[in-house]
Order: sequence, then C-alpha cells, then structure tokens
Amino acid sequence: MKALVFHKPKDVRVETVEDPRIEESRDAIIRVTSTAICGSDLHIYNGMFPQPRNMILGHEFMGIVEEVGKGVGNLKKGDRVVVPFPIACGKCNFCAMELPTHCENSNIENYGPEGDLMSGKGAALFGYTDLYGGYSGGQAEYVRVPYADYGPRKVPDNLTDEQVLFLTDIFPTGWAAIDWAGLKGGETVAVFGCGPVGIMAMKSAWLQGAKRVIGIDIQPYRLEMARKSAKVETINAKEVNAVEVIRDMTGGYGADVCVDAVGMEADRSFAEKALNVVQLEKGTMKILEHCLEAVRRGGAVTVVGVYGTPYDNFPLHRWFDKGIRMMGGQAWVQRYIDHLIGLVRDGKVVLDDIITHTVPLAQASKMYDIFNKKQDNCVKVVLKP
Ligand code: NAD
Ligand code: ZN
Ligand code: ZN
Repeated sequence: MKALVFHKPKDVRVETVEDPRIEESRDAIIRVTSTAICGSDLHIYNGMFPQPRNMILGHEFMGIVEEVGKGVGNLKKGDRVVVPFPIACGKCNFCAMELPTHCENSNIENYGPEGDLMSGKGAALFGYTDLYGGYSGGQAEYVRVPYADYGPRKVPDNLTDEQVLFLTDIFPTGWAAIDWAGLKGGETVAVFGCGPVGIMAMKSAWLQGAKRVIGIDIQPYRLEMARKSAKVETINAKEVNAVEVIRDMTGGYGADVCVDAVGMEADRSFAEKALNVVQLEKGTMKILEHCLEAVRRGGAVTVVGVYGTPYDNFPLHRWFDKGIRMMGGQAWVQRYIDHLIGLVRDGKVVLDDIITHTVPLAQASKMYDIFNKKQDNCVKVVLKP
C-alpha cells in the first residue's frame, strides 16, 4: 500500500510499504478514506519529538472496516468509522477512570523502565513516534487499529467524511480545553492560537456557554478564519500587546478562561517574530505566560498545545498569587466522542469549514511543507488515500 513515511525532520515521503495485518484478536484493519495533518504532526516533522526510525505518520483518520480480529464483536467489514487518536484498551485502571490517554496496556514497552506507571509516557498514539508506542499511523491506504472494540465509532451514513473526521482529535481536543475550565455559563474565554485546535476550542466555548470568545494569533489569515468559522473577536498579537488588549476588553479583570492552543512552537516563533510586542517579564514570553497574565484572578488556564520539554522559569508566583486553576494534557477522546458525534449529527456544530486543502495522499509531502510554513492560507489539510 501507499503511506506517508517519516524519514527524518523535514523529510516525509509517500511510498510503498507493507500492508498492515491483524496481529491481535482485538485488531481491525481500516481502509482509510480521509486523514488529516495535525499541528502535532509538525512536532515530529520539525524534529521536536525525535523519531529514530522510519514511521508512517497520522493520527486523524477514518474509513471503512476491512477486516476484524476474533475479539472484535461490535464491528464488521464495511462499517464506516472514525478512530480516536489515543490507543486505549478500555479495560485497565486508567481506562476505567475514563483516562484513555493514560491507558496501561497500549504502550507497555514505553511506559518507562519496568512499566513505570507513575512516570512513563502514557498511552500509545497512532503514528506518533516510538515514545508513544511506535504504532503505524493513518496517513496511509490501510491502518491497523488495536483495541478496535473500544476506540472506533460508527458514524451516520448521511454525514460526509469531512463533517466527522475531526471527531478523531481536534474537536474533542478543543472540547477538552473548555471542559477542563468548567464553565458555568456567561464566561469570557480567550483562546491563544487560531489553528485548527484553537478554532475547535472556540466553537466548544460557545457550545459550553461562553458569552464572549476571543481568538489570538500572529497570522492574519488564521485570525480571519477564526472570525469566519467560530464567530469570535480576534487580536493580532504581532501588532498589539494581547494581554493589555484583553485587560481593556474585560474592564481590567482579565478573561475568565485562557486556553493555550499553541504549545511549545511559540517559544521559537514568539522569540523570533513577536518578542518586541509583550514585555511583561525578562526572557522569552511563552503562550503559557500570556495565559497566566491574561486570565482573571481565580480563573482557569487550560493547555492543549503540546509541551514536550521542561519549561524554565514557569511563573509559579503568578499561578499561586492569582489562584489559577490549571489543567492540560492529551484530550480524552473516548470520553467525549459519543456526545460530540451527537452535536455534529444534530447540526449543533460545523467542523468542516476550517478545511482549506483537500488533496490526494500522494501530495502529502508537499502539504506538510505548506502547512508547516503557514503558506497558501493553509489552515487544515485533508488527505485522500
Ligand atoms: P497549528 O500549528 O496549525 O496552529 C498553531 C497556531 O498557533 C498557528 O495559527 C500559529 O500562527 C499560532 N501561533 C504560533 N505562535 C504564536 C504566538 N506567539 N502567539 C499567538 N499565536 C501563535 O496547530 P494546531 O493543529 O492548531 O495545534 C495546536 C497545538 O495543539 C499543537 O501544539 C498541537 O500539537 C496541539 N494538539 C494537542 C492535542 C491534545 O490532545 N492536547 C491534540 C491535537 C493537537
Ligand atoms: Zn492531531
Ligand atoms: Zn487501558
């Protein structure tokens, strides 16, 4: 089959690889009909998460069940499914706590030395480096899905791939960012990052009861997409001091909730492009620091942007002094997905309006480059194997 294979940073290629096959009784093989490129894939692409051997990337995918193992009773050949990006067994202690991103069984080898449940890496993810289980991803014609009786969800026939594809990751991730903040209704929510994840957080904020939603980015075309797709007010952090603008917009209080939907990238991009804009403290301003500044006292900061390295000079004093609630991590897709499918089915939310590029899988390598460089007004890329 054809698949998008990571070779080394900035070197991903569509090439012929071996077809996947059923290896365990709870496996399924899915014929992929649509798959997307994620900001998280860029961490691997840019070498921020090292990957020593070639690997098929892709954790946002859906398709048609081709074959199931003996242990998969709920799916059959021909079913059309979306697949959550965390690989989880559904039976361990963490899965019982509805924490699929910490599943004990999907990433045994890499949970740490001798299976370190406290400090290991957590659950496996599709196509997301050997640290996260080393499983082949779904930017391919076929993919092996472990624990297929727990993760994949059948989707209604009358919904297109584009309408449901983002249930695999970015909609549940945006939903998690707001769920973790625990809105009571009427809040002002500021989302840093108007990429696909940020925009999904904005849509989720409206659905969970926010009265005002603000998107912040440094790319004018991404701000425009946020205004169009999520109907939010926007701030260009390259032109103005976003924290001060949020202060002004909220009568001096700050936002009730700040979401970091950028992650570690901002270290580099902020340092390079926008350091002159906000000078609250010495050193490089990171998005997390903006969030801690721009949130009101007693508010919430949630972090869905990925941090893969230690963070120096974390503003612990601001967190403590302002009494901020914080939560972050990989999204609990399996916990949210059934409710979110319902929202899509009932027309409560539109997800496919952020898609700017739909191309054959064969063009994936070029699209990684465009998406990474934020060229061609690219917001979200869907690949068709
Ligand atoms: P993306 O790269 O398309 O979007 C990131 C956005 O941040 C871009 O629009 C960029 O212009 C903006 N940005 C960069 N520097 C900025 C700055 N200094 N100030 C304001 N905005 C800035 O990526 P995405 O697909 O939207 O993903 C966003 C983050 O979410 C990534 O870190 C990704 O890995 C992470 N993610 C996490 C989960 C999870 O489960 N927690 C799931 C999916 C993605
Ligand atoms: Zn993703
Ligand atoms: Zn488990």
